[in-house]
Amino acid sequence: MNSQIYNLGCLAIVDAKLDELDDEYGELPLEIKDKSEKLAVLKKNAAETQRILVDLRKFTHESRTTIVLLKEKEENLGKKQFQVKNNKEFDAITKEIEHIRTEYNKIVEELRSTGLKEENLSSILATQTKESFESENELKALQEELEFIQNDQQDELKRLRKIKKEYITAISDANKIDYDRIRGMFKDSVVMIKRNSCSGCFSSLPPQKIVEIRNNLDTIYHCENCGRIVYPEDMIDRDSVI
Ligand SMILES: [Zn+2]
Repeated sequence: MNSQIYNLGCLAIVDAKLDELDDEYGELPLEIKDKSEKLAVLKKNAAETQRILVDLRKFTHESRTTIVLLKEKEENLGKKQFQVKNNKEFDAITKEIEHIRTEYNKIVEELRSTGLKEENLSSILATQTKESFESENELKALQEELEFIQNDQQDELKRLRKIKKEYITAISDANKIDYDRIRGMFKDSVVMIKRNSCSGCFSSLPPQKIVEIRNNLDTIYHCENCGRIVYPEDMIDRDSVI
């Protein structure tokens, strides 16, 4: 059975390779997230404009019906005015006609400003729809790029994850926790001793310490300067790990 330090060193090599693959994505995942959020806002705004437009068109339709009715009412009252028997009735009808005309003019005025509003909103909606469409296409292109990398990496990822699992299974829970803790600070949490120094922070290790590490492969040693786990240079044949 291989020592804990050996398995930790191998795990670090596999993780470094996985990090390398992850780096191929660059800013892509962030860009996709950003673009998706922006697209959602654009779509929400367009839907809101659309909703207001529907309301306006409903109002226009109802108002047009109302002015037709008012016009009919006015005509009927006009006819009735010729059949009145006295001035009092005549005046009452005149007053009613005046009221209808005021109402009629008011609605016509409202329709005019609604028409302008509708025109403006239609143009805003056209812009919003165009922006949504463009944004959607940009997002699609980014997603395709991501998919391309994913397909490209699929086999390699599968292979590396399988290897990683084997090393992880061989590492104790305590050492795994230690490894993850250091990974939180340094991506390369387990490093080899190179030219008598920690290859993570390059601070040198006392010769007697190096001898001790070499002779006690069942003990985990940390670099006193940076805290990374260190192992003897010739302990791992990198090519055999991945
Ligand atoms: Zn160090």
